[in-house]
Amino acid sequence: MLCYLDVVSTPTVDTPGACLRLAFDQRHYIFGNVSEGTQRIMASKRMSMAKVEDIFLSGPVDWHANGGLLGFLLTIADVHETIAGALREANREKKAKGKKTDAVTTVDHVNIHGAKNLAHMLATARKFVFRKAFPLVPWEIRDDPRVNTPDADKPDWEDENIRVWYVPVVSDKAEAPEAAAAAQPSKSKKRKAEQMSDSDGETAPAAAQPQQSDIGANESGSTPTTSQDDVDQEMRLDVVQKMFNSRAAWNRNRPVALFNGQSVRRLEEMKLGKVPLWAQDLFCEVDGVVQRYMGPLDPNATVLVPVDMKASEVPHLLPVGKSQMSICYIVKVHKGKGKFNVAKAMELGVKKQEFKLLVDGTTVLGKDGIEVTPEMVLSPVPEPSGFALVEVPDASYIDSLLSRPEWKNERIMAGLAAMYWIIRDAEILHDERVQSFMREHAEVKHTILSKSEGSSPCLIQNSAVERTRLNMVENDLFPSVSHTDGDGSIAQQQDATLPYELTLAGAQLRIAPRVAHLKDNLVSPPKEEEIMEKFLSDPEILRLATEAKTKVSDPAFLSAMAASTADLPNPDAEIVPLGTGSALPSRSRNVSCTLVRVPGVGSYLLDCGENSLGQLRRMYGYAGADEVLRDLKAIWISHSHADHHLGTISVLKRFSEVVPLSPSNHPEEQQKVAVIAHPYYHRFLAEYAQLEPIGLDTHAFLISSEPGAAPPSPANGFSKEVKNPMDDPAILSPFGLSRIAMCAVDHCDDARAVAFTLTSGLKIAYSGDCRPSRAFASDAVGGDAHLLIHEATLDDELQKDAVLKKHCTTSEALWVAKEMRAKNVLLTHFSQRYPKLPEIQNGGERGDGEAPVVFAFDFMRVRLGEFRKAREFVPALQRLRQEKKAAVVDGADGKVDTIVEEMVEEVVQEVEAEVMAKKTTDV
Ligand SMILES: [Zn+2]
Repeated sequence: MLCYLDVVSTPTVDTPGACLRLAFDQRHYIFGNVSEGTQRIMASKRMSMAKVEDIFLSGPVDWHANGGLLGFLLTIADVHETIAGALREANREKKAKGKKTDAVTTVDHVNIHGAKNLAHMLATARKFVFRKAFPLVPWEIRDDPRVNTPDADKPDWEDENIRVWYVPVVSDKAEAPEAAAAAQPSKSKKRKAEQMSDSDGETAPAAAQPQQSDIGANESGSTPTTSQDDVDQEMRLDVVQKMFNSRAAWNRNRPVALFNGQSVRRLEEMKLGKVPLWAQDLFCEVDGVVQRYMGPLDPNATVLVPVDMKASEVPHLLPVGKSQMSICYIVKVHKGKGKFNVAKAMELGVKKQEFKLLVDGTTVLGKDGIEVTPEMVLSPVPEPSGFALVEVPDASYIDSLLSRPEWKNERIMAGLAAMYWIIRDAEILHDERVQSFMREHAEVKHTILSKSEGSSPCLIQNSAVERTRLNMVENDLFPSVSHTDGDGSIAQQQDATLPYELTLAGAQLRIAPRVAHLKDNLVSPPKEEEIMEKFLSDPEILRLATEAKTKVSDPAFLSAMAASTADLPNPDAEIVPLGTGSALPSRSRNVSCTLVRVPGVGSYLLDCGENSLGQLRRMYGYAGADEVLRDLKAIWISHSHADHHLGTISVLKRFSEVVPLSPSNHPEEQQKVAVIAHPYYHRFLAEYAQLEPIGLDTHAFLISSEPGAAPPSPANGFSKEVKNPMDDPAILSPFGLSRIAMCAVDHCDDARAVAFTLTSGLKIAYSGDCRPSRAFASDAVGGDAHLLIHEATLDDELQKDAVLKKHCTTSEALWVAKEMRAKNVLLTHFSQRYPKLPEIQNGGERGDGEAPVVFAFDFMRVRLGEFRKAREFVPALQRLRQEKKAAVVDGADGKVDTIVEEMVEEVVQEVEAEVMAKKTTDV
């Protein structure tokens, strides 16, 4: 058996968290954080998502640790869906050829373990995260499993590969109830993966969660034995289950939480005679109070029957309190099997058919009737090994961590090879208590996963290579971006006297067959010389770039450009695309986000996909990104597809950290950022903000993109009815805006295109995702925009796909530009399937030869007055992109059903190989 633990990521600008992957042949486990950026790092390293069946989240449930989780889960769901689709397709072909088909095995379920509030966090996304058949099972760790039995050594989770102990630690700043909850006797029994099996297809997996088994005892109307908190949790779990597996039935044994009106079921009136057989609970209304129906059995009696709601229809989640519990884990692999000595077995006369019996531990008969025991033909079994993963958010968790009983339990600690420390604040490493703990446990290697500014190389190597190549084409349009982390501060030196070691992504711990710490694959900055060499291998790129440079430095060109931009209100406005890909982050393009910086007015983010903050930091460094945020006036969210907004929470949170609270404490004087989005989205933010402060109440001003609908909380500063267009200076001028005009576009329910007019007179139109829209191009919205930023997801030859997936082709986007009489055009949101830049028939001119059209790249920086200049480099860029091979396939985005084609191919081959192997062993 082979088993490796890989350091997938350490905290860098590419992701704020640290992630480990435990890999067995057929099954992978994620440990640690699934922060923003994690799935992109995995994709760029070509790590399989299909094999991930268990996610063990460490730390508290907050955005820092889990901000990438929703996107990650969507991608896993889509990978499985695509694999199943590919297998079915293969079967169809086999059937047509009269061949035998193979069983389509999809993932049974994916377990996700994490601290308190995990279910709430997932459920906040119910409006925009939904999948039909992805059985996700959240295991929220709400209690201390060893509070009454500190010496117990039974694992809290076990499957065929590993045993896991949950180690919850609580901040000493935690409020009394939580500290008490952690000290309550645990209701959870030992959980085994087998308990989760869903053999009859009827029982929803979550129903097997032992924590909740006592709740169903409510059938006869007896008083529930569980607390309100448990009932509330039921509802959250129901919502999560429905979000990812809409085919699953609600657990029928669960009570309807009638009395707070917060059920995931609503009550529907029916005649008793018409009530379907499955309806177990019947209610009726007596004097305005809903109660259980006790008869009479008259078919004409009116009863109330609970009817399932879709997860997205659940209007509000029950409130949760903030949690200050951080989950840590101890993980051990099972004792492996020794190596089978075939020659020896043959020599002893064991029949081939009986080899397997020996491997499984049975004694068999050899030649001359001698007994052959497994020990005679198997090498000695190595002792099981494992690791611990601890996350210490701040110093207030140290005492609780160090006093855990597991560290003193020899049976649990035996064989532990390493202890990984996820550290958010470097001060913790200097803490005397922590250092002496490490020295006391010097038998395990203490490895630190923490931010080390200035020394961590970029984790997305392809993106770094791409940036370097673009910079070689033109260094003003594509400024050089650091390949290491942060602002170049001094790297921390490794000090041999310390009881720990810092590590980088790529480090590996081999756990089986023999423990070894491996550093062969450590991430390193890309080699400039190699990139240069490759770049020069096609001299045509350089020739085209030189030609463009010559042209744009010609005085005649420059004066023509100056003349054509003379009436632009802000020719020095900078447009900085931070994410230009569609659907899902790829190696060279992140998901949607465009930064517009207008000197003297402010900065704006148009959409804010996952890890937009990281992209901002990659571009400007940590301090530089904070500088941009201090100037941030508004965030526009075009629609609720996950690739357009999952970076908002971290941007808001950071904004609230770098923009001081007004000393007067007067809301009117507080500098805020406008979050302009559909009310759905504001509700998501409000529900999320129950878990941790993100500046929503203090630093955000919510503006609804739905005319007539106010954001949910008037306390957030805006409850007036929104007019469209909006042009109320009292509301808009603090954000540097004088007018916002929006229109619904054809893409999804809440998709909006928008035109912002700034106080300087600059007008910027932004499409979001959509089919070409006449309303958007009209004078009421985008007409005469100085800049149009339009999606151009697909190449012209994919017109049919564009209609199907409700996106635009290049020509359709240019048609909108022409209709709108846009002065400058930036095309973005490219399908990840075709890395080639589209050809534009007229060589970069809009149809009438007026507006320059430029293609967006991540980390490009183009000044509004210099679009003509930028356009000249399009031929060189087209050439640069030509040689690239397609790496990714995508479908209707938003559903983010994009996946790495090769990954599927690989898995399909593996599945087929497995089927073959089974057939062979059967013979
Ligand atoms: Zn979309």
